[in-house]
Amino acid sequence: MKLGIVGLPNVGKSTLFNAITKAGAECANYPFCTIEPNVGVVSVPDERLIKLAQMYSSQKTIPAIIEFVDIAGLVKGASRGEGLGNKFLSHIREVDAILHVVRCFEDGNIIHVDGSIGPSRDVETISLELIFADMELVERRVDRCRKMLKGDKGLQIEINLLDRLLVHLESGKPARTLEMTPEEADLARGVFLLTSKPVIYAANISEDDIVDLASDDSDDTSGNPFIVELKKFAHGEGSEVIVVCAKIEEEIAQLEDAEKSDFLEALGLKESGLDKLVRASYKLLGLISYLTAGPQETRAWTITKGTRAPQAAGKIHTDFEKGFIRAEIVAYDDLMTFGTYVAAKEKGLVRSEGKEYVMKDGDVTLFRFNV
Ligand code: GDP
Repeated sequence: MKLGIVGLPNVGKSTLFNAITKAGAECANYPFCTIEPNVGVVSVPDERLIKLAQMYSSQKTIPAIIEFVDIAGLVKGASRGEGLGNKFLSHIREVDAILHVVRCFEDGNIIHVDGSIGPSRDVETISLELIFADMELVERRVDRCRKMLKGDKGLQIEINLLDRLLVHLESGKPARTLEMTPEEADLARGVFLLTSKPVIYAANISEDDIVDLASDDSDDTSGNPFIVELKKFAHGEGSEVIVVCAKIEEEIAQLEDAEKSDFLEALGLKESGLDKLVRASYKLLGLISYLTAGPQETRAWTITKGTRAPQAAGKIHTDFEKGFIRAEIVAYDDLMTFGTYVAAKEKGLVRSEGKEYVMKDGDVTLFRFNV
């Protein structure tokens, strides 16, 4: 699962991306992950892995990961080919969600492309470029559908949707805020729109403001009018805002775990902004983790909500899916309550689940299969 980092120039994208690469997950464990200069891989913080690894005296713990892609070159006019133009558009097409970095820090030495800090104006600038690109796509698609309509009456539903979508985009709104029936949503997915991707806004604040954030860990930064403005905008379209200070994140990312907690404590924070961001991204993408534990390794496996047991098993190995017999599952909380697998089993809390079982977050799982 990949998130693409976008935002105007000089808002702190590279700084945040550096923090991500410095915090980087141990990639040796993830043979599939793309190691390209513009891709950063971070682990999803999960306390449960630490506790499970202790319980099983595991040699290794392998957390779930998320990939971030630094999508540079998004500037005003990009949809018309300015800056890196179409190149960045094709990068955005490849990601599952967008992380939109918004400048909420003042610094006279760092030029803002529009001369002043203005979170909702900035967001709209970027958002409009994506909307323009989508409008072009939709227009081309409608033309094609109209030509084919004579032969295929079923296309009328799609044409109606595309017409509605176009009006919506033309009014400056992203596709994700258009209400659609499930059937229409399916059709819309086939158009591969940029603005239908879910978005998280990262409010990049200054080092000085982090103190406000610390005094109350609930993200209530009412002292900062830029964040208030951004939140109002984001919540209006049903998106979330995560407050970070990219500069401090970059420092935190270089620390060892023990130093990191001391540093956070000194700032009065429970968790780094990056951890918060990664967690929010995981949730935004509709992802959950099931867990496996043993003396060799304790590991979190990423699945989308609603995944059934055999497909979840397939994440470990295709043979596990093909030869799936059943899954032996105990909920993480139950396992912790009773202290050992055996004790949980005695209480009847280790369940044997079949092919139709829908996996839950925190299912500690052992798959039975035959090949
Ligand atoms: P990008 O163009 O969006 O990639 O922005 P950069 O990450 O290159 O940041 C632009 C400038 O803003 C750099 O000089 C950064 O050091 C500075 N900057 C980024 N984040 C922060 C921050 O949280 N606080 C302060 N004071 N400066 C920052």
